[in-house]
Amino acid sequence: MKEITNSLNKKIYYIVAWTVIAIMISGLLIDNPRFGEFGVVYISHSILVVILSVCLLLYRTNGSAILRLTIIIVASIYFYILFLFYPETSSTYVFLCFIPALSILYFDSKLFYFSLLLNFISIVIIYGYILLMDGMQYPFIEEDPIGNFVNFVASQIIVYFIFYLTNGRIKKQQLYYEQIQHSERLKTTGQLAAAVAHEIRNPLTVVKGFLQLFEKDSSYSVDRQEQFTLMIDELNTAEQVISQFLSVAKPDKENVTEKVNVKVVLQSVTDLLHSYGLLHDNRIELKVTEDCTISANTIEFKQLLINIIKNAIEASNIGDRVLVTAGREKDFVVIQVIDQGQGMSEEQVVSLGTPFYSLKSKGTGLGMMICFNIVEKFNGTIDFQSSIGHGTAVTIRFPTSKLS
Ligand code: ADP
Ligand code: MG
Repeated sequence: MKEITNSLNKKIYYIVAWTVIAIMISGLLIDNPRFGEFGVVYISHSILVVILSVCLLLYRTNGSAILRLTIIIVASIYFYILFLFYPETSSTYVFLCFIPALSILYFDSKLFYFSLLLNFISIVIIYGYILLMDGMQYPFIEEDPIGNFVNFVASQIIVYFIFYLTNGRIKKQQLYYEQIQHSERLKTTGQLAAAVAHEIRNPLTVVKGFLQLFEKDSSYSVDRQEQFTLMIDELNTAEQVISQFLSVAKPDKENVTEKVNVKVVLQSVTDLLHSYGLLHDNRIELKVTEDCTISANTIEFKQLLINIIKNAIEASNIGDRVLVTAGREKDFVVIQVIDQGQGMSEEQVVSLGTPFYSLKSKGTGLGMMICFNIVEKFNGTIDFQSSIGHGTAVTIRFPTSKLS
């Protein structure tokens, strides 16, 4: 499917590019007042058409930022040259107004602002040139310079609004697409987990049972028995991973959605993790501004908070505090878990939720995946603001409960 859209896009691109090239060439050949003179004007016009055509054709295979910038600069020069070299064709002024619109096609906001600025500076220079030196050739500007300039500025504002609205929409669509990709990933992992985990859990239980028998069998030496204990420990870890995985794959109907009091759950979770935090002298501070309720499953909601607060404690330095806040924002309950620990880079934040992604020597890398799943299940959102060395703020939003 992707290949079909790709080849379709490629075809459309080349059709558009060749059409533009054909229009530029026809500008050179058809009814051109400088045609046949082969002076500086005509030659530089021709060179610009060639450069612009090559850039346009290259762009599909090498869509680098530098090439984009080159296209915009060459196109600007091209339109200004048209304006300057063919003063009798007053409609070329219209092109000048729409130069920044070209960069909208590349969805590159920096390029757009650059193009807008470049266009503004160029038009001021052009007005200066016309009014001070060469007014006779552009009577429409000389007769009403202010009116023409105001129109130019208005056209730039219109182009800006078009850019602003399209860009916002594209960004939203991109975000939506990423979210869909993410939930697809979760769905696949869930199905995979369900299939594999059961198959592994049974043989594990059998092996563990035998090992527990051997561990208690005094006919084995103490050394051997210690090895059995070690093997049982390792199997326990494996079992833990599997149970975590299975909790993702559980069918929905097993979990009832109920009215959950956020304050009560947060209190119980922070009490539970209090002693875990004390291991590294980390205090957990809880601030709940008002009573709020959400529609969720208490056990899963606890699991979500435990995972996030545990991560915050694990990322914290000795003595740091972890702040947990909850409050209401319009129709949403907002819970934040803020630590001042090691933080994450942008790439690390993007990788969160990928199964087995963990930077800890004893991590399972499943915690965040489970969290994403739970948040999604109860129509919530989760965001991360993090900077390396400064800490992380995890923000969870759930709609307030409509259950009575
Ligand atoms: P685990 O905790 O088992 O490693 P998680 O899925 O809970 O797995 O977390 C994945 C990784 O994300 C962690 O290993 C850690 O590197 C990073 N991470 C999660 N939360 C934080 C946080 N608050 N601060 C810094 N890193 C974090
Ligand atoms: Mg974790």
